[in-house]
Amino acid sequence: MKTFYLETYGCQMNEADSELVTGRLLEAGYRKVESPGEADIILANTCAVREHAEQRVVGRLNELGRHKLQRPGVILGVLGCMSQHLKEGLLKQVGRLDLVAGPDSYRRLPALIEEATNAPRLDCDLDRAETYAGLEPVRTEGVRAWVTILRGCDKFCSFCIVPHVRGRERCLPADAILAEVREVVRQGFKEVVLLGQTVNSYQHDGVSFAELLRKVNAVEGIERIRFTSPYPTDMTDDAIAAMAECEHVCPHLHLPLQSAADAVLERMRRGYTIAEYDALVHRLRVTIPDLALGTDLIVGFPDETEAEYQATLDYVKSGRFDSAFMFKYSPRPGTLSARWDDTVPEEVKSRRLQEVIDTQEGISKEINQALIGREVEVLVEGRARRGDTDASGKTPHFKTVVFPDGGSKPGDLVTVEVERATGHSLYGRLLPGRLRHRRHSHGGSTEFAGRSPHEGPVLRRAIRAKLDAMVSAPQRSLSLIPLEVADR
Ligand code: SF4
Repeated sequence: MKTFYLETYGCQMNEADSELVTGRLLEAGYRKVESPGEADIILANTCAVREHAEQRVVGRLNELGRHKLQRPGVILGVLGCMSQHLKEGLLKQVGRLDLVAGPDSYRRLPALIEEATNAPRLDCDLDRAETYAGLEPVRTEGVRAWVTILRGCDKFCSFCIVPHVRGRERCLPADAILAEVREVVRQGFKEVVLLGQTVNSYQHDGVSFAELLRKVNAVEGIERIRFTSPYPTDMTDDAIAAMAECEHVCPHLHLPLQSAADAVLERMRRGYTIAEYDALVHRLRVTIPDLALGTDLIVGFPDETEAEYQATLDYVKSGRFDSAFMFKYSPRPGTLSARWDDTVPEEVKSRRLQEVIDTQEGISKEINQALIGREVEVLVEGRARRGDTDASGKTPHFKTVVFPDGGSKPGDLVTVEVERATGHSLYGRLLPGRLRHRRHSHGGSTEFAGRSPHEGPVLRRAIRAKLDAMVSAPQRSLSLIPLEVADR
């Protein structure tokens, strides 16, 4: 039986794709191994979003290629976004490479591997119909299962390579998604993360993203639901309402902003203004008062003036995100913005990035320190660090919590009292029993209500009626919603 070894780089989409690849190869009779030295097939599933990451992967592939010196029959292959981005260029950059396969080639991977035993094989055809529906991913152990609901992207932001390497948007049928969710719940996963480059653009056979959330929420035995990454212009009031009313959907959203200057947003081709983004944040926070909000930011975009950068910094201060991924702009060949001059000097980009990081870290720390003394529900993921006796896990708000494990195991839902907090983590002590918490609309606070049973269907029906009213008259009724969701 031939063996394969697979390394994964990049985002959760790539993690999910590696699970698909694993399932496909196991189905074809290969056996998975944990080190390249044992493998007949060595594969890397790669990311093209940042140039630096691409260079690291090229270095790693050249290193992995040394296994072919001792065992010439080994097949070395590259999968995913870098394959699609660089195509035959990869064969030149990586000596001893046998296979270059793009993100839509996984269904035929066993055949491609066979063909690559004769001569280097390149297969980078994008396929508008390929959703991998019907392929069974084989997931790595853990408490969180990624479920892809949408592949590709139609937004074509001027700086982003994703639509060029992952192709156009296509959604999986709701029935296939629900079958997969039921299966991961049956396998014991506690948290399901619905994935897509613009996950809330989901629309298939009349099922909207909001309806899909409600259907997933109704799957028996599901504990937690998240989704990433939503696109601001596709975050409908109905999707917000679904988030608020679905008891298993976590009160956490990563909503990429990128810049708070309208002229920069325009050059980025983002399709919204800062006023529209801010109005969306307002609707979200009024509807889900304890929402934890994260974002993505890019500084130093071509022609970004000091005033435009300052607008972003000011919004970081006023928007008070829980967390942010912050980057300096770097051009990606093949994108629209790569044709423009990269006008902001490197030292100015670095200074802007450092300022925005320092500001955000201060805010994250303040937000986290406000949780000291609170009880939070934690889904235990494992050891905080290798060899450590402390456990760590995530709250519904996606805060990392570290605590003496007290015998708790990965997959347990436990209660921790927060005793200390940094910008990145909460630290606390384990309490007996499982926490239930309820959200309050007034004052934007979350009251953790001890270990009471949640309020049940009567309360949720009342909330749903209010939310339905909001959806039909969003501006007028937003502040009137007495939202009290028992979300656990
Ligand atoms: S929405 Fe924009 S940034 Fe996100 S994947 Fe699509 S093109 Fe890239």
